[in-house]
Amino acid sequence: MDSESYDINLGNKDTETRKKASEDFISFWDEQAKKLSWFTPWEKTLDWNPPFAKWFVGGVLNASYNALDRHQSTKAEKPAILWEGENGDSKTLTYKDLFFQVKKFSNVLKSLGIQKGDRITIYLPMVPELPISMLACARIGATHTVVFSGFSSSSLKDRIIDSKSKIVITADGGFRRGSVVKLKEVVDDAIQGLDFVKNVILLERTKTPVNLNSKDKWWHDLMKDSSPDCEPEKLSSTHPLYILYTSGTTGKPKGVLHGTGGYLTHLQSTYKWAFDIKDSDVFFCTADIGWVTGHSYVVYGPLLHGATEVMYEGSPDFPDISRMWDIIQKYKVTIFYTTPTALRMFMKFGDEIPNSFDLSTLRLLGTVGEPINPEVWKWYYKIIGKEKCPIIDTWWQTETGGMILSPLPGLESILLKPGSATYPIPGVDMAIVNEDGKEVPPNNKGYLIIRNPWPGMLLTLWGDDEKYKSVYWSKYENAYYTGDYAIKDQDGYFWLLGRADDVLKVAGHRIGTAELESSIVSHSDVAEAAVCGIPHDVKGEAIIAFVVLKEGIKKNEETLRTEIVKEIRSGVGPIATPEQLYFVSRLPKTRSGKIMRRLLKAIAKNEKIGDVSTLEDGAAVSEVQSAFDELQKSFAKNKKN
Ligand code: ATP
Ligand code: MG
Repeated sequence: MDSESYDINLGNKDTETRKKASEDFISFWDEQAKKLSWFTPWEKTLDWNPPFAKWFVGGVLNASYNALDRHQSTKAEKPAILWEGENGDSKTLTYKDLFFQVKKFSNVLKSLGIQKGDRITIYLPMVPELPISMLACARIGATHTVVFSGFSSSSLKDRIIDSKSKIVITADGGFRRGSVVKLKEVVDDAIQGLDFVKNVILLERTKTPVNLNSKDKWWHDLMKDSSPDCEPEKLSSTHPLYILYTSGTTGKPKGVLHGTGGYLTHLQSTYKWAFDIKDSDVFFCTADIGWVTGHSYVVYGPLLHGATEVMYEGSPDFPDISRMWDIIQKYKVTIFYTTPTALRMFMKFGDEIPNSFDLSTLRLLGTVGEPINPEVWKWYYKIIGKEKCPIIDTWWQTETGGMILSPLPGLESILLKPGSATYPIPGVDMAIVNEDGKEVPPNNKGYLIIRNPWPGMLLTLWGDDEKYKSVYWSKYENAYYTGDYAIKDQDGYFWLLGRADDVLKVAGHRIGTAELESSIVSHSDVAEAAVCGIPHDVKGEAIIAFVVLKEGIKKNEETLRTEIVKEIRSGVGPIATPEQLYFVSRLPKTRSGKIMRRLLKAIAKNEKIGDVSTLEDGAAVSEVQSAFDELQKSFAKNKKN
């Protein structure tokens, strides 16, 4: 844990909000929900039948109405999406354009027989038609399930079957690092033998030749004569807006089901509090819409607020590592939200590249997805934010729907501590507990739990209430188990220490993977690190570390090893000294950039790695496989020594 702190505030000093929330979280959220547009107000704010929460019962609304219709009188000509293609194409969609397209596409779905409650799988690259499809589903009450367009056909098939989707929306191809991924072929493979899939809607993106079959319909043909008049369906607050499968970092992905009124309330509030969004801002979240960050803070959050945002189609390092800075300069981005893994990659290539771009429009920076190492935080702060932008480290999950832990510079001033996601948003009660569910004293490690329902929380796991109960609500009585390991310091700041499943137990001590990795990354030559434990006769578990160095480091490995170990001994303590430390060129990760811990463990224990196709997209499988081989080779070699 870093002891430094940074006092950066944007002039917002609201103390009432927190006060109200702590007095009564139910009436607090009741007030917040009024910021949305409802066709019929709710009768009951919360119906809490643990562990099932129904928010704003009796209320009637529509997500697409809230994202589009209500801005038409004031913001019709305002750009909603500034789209940047991987190959440099660009396109601007105003709120009016988006509204028009969404209504037309809603009618397309209706014309294909889609009704309220039907599920639709969307397997599209990051093109404007992806949010258009989602909003059209929302408009007519169909439940969307977006599958990241890098996933293999077997992963796609599992999700289509699990959600029983009647329609799959895809494209002829998608651009990925300059080459074309043949999405249509993946879909053909995935839907083979699935009679319940009635149609495939095909967007022309890459002009890749495709084989058309009887279920296929071209997007542009369907849209040509479709009417632009479509009233939004009047939906109850708990109507299922979408199913989204988790990243699968720890195991088989779970089909998280989100509702409408509660979810949107959570986003309406957190988007404003966290990003301090103003009408003049240009917001850029780099997440793919295939992940929850894209759902909440590329699609629904910004559009609820009538914000202008950049949407980028390709990889963050294509055609080269400066792409993000180039986009920020081009569109005069003011708020930038990305992942620690991307930042570590940028940092690996030095300061000169970002320093050669004009990043002066930036005023707020954010991260999500993983713990951010203080070293990386400071780099982000200094090199990208030029020491003037607050950094919001936002902790949340697919299941929470929106941010749960984060600094909220749009609401209040707060002292930032590099590496800490600070404290819970108003209305959410979190704690760190031990195995028995007893709260641990400050500065002690434990499991992160949430002690009251919040509006963005999942309704359940799709079609599996029992699993929902057992995964999240069975470990502790009356509390949601996050599955993360954390610490709360003497000032009430939360520090995430990694997955609870991955806590290393060495000679009776419990060490979080994130704290150890962070101390390794604090060595100035290290870009990335991953640690895992293997069974050890004496210590219980011994630590293995995999380290990726920054570009161009030529130091002797032994010297580096000694220096890194020194760093660990002073950072975490001698107990955390790794038994073995390997230098590799990359780490196996999920497509959302997270280290595949399950895989690392399997490697270290020399077990079969199991099915990677459910976790990885087609293109990344080989990347993961070679990283895996590299790790295993060095593991075998060192074992012999
Ligand atoms: P699965 O549940 O299938 O293993 P996943 O947990 O990786 O997948 P997500 O819901 O996308 O899927 O990720 C949520 C998790 O990401 C959190 O539980 C936490 O471990 C990690 N995380 C997200 N944001 C942060 C953050 N700011 N700091 C630390 N960890 C974070
Ligand atoms: Mg998870």
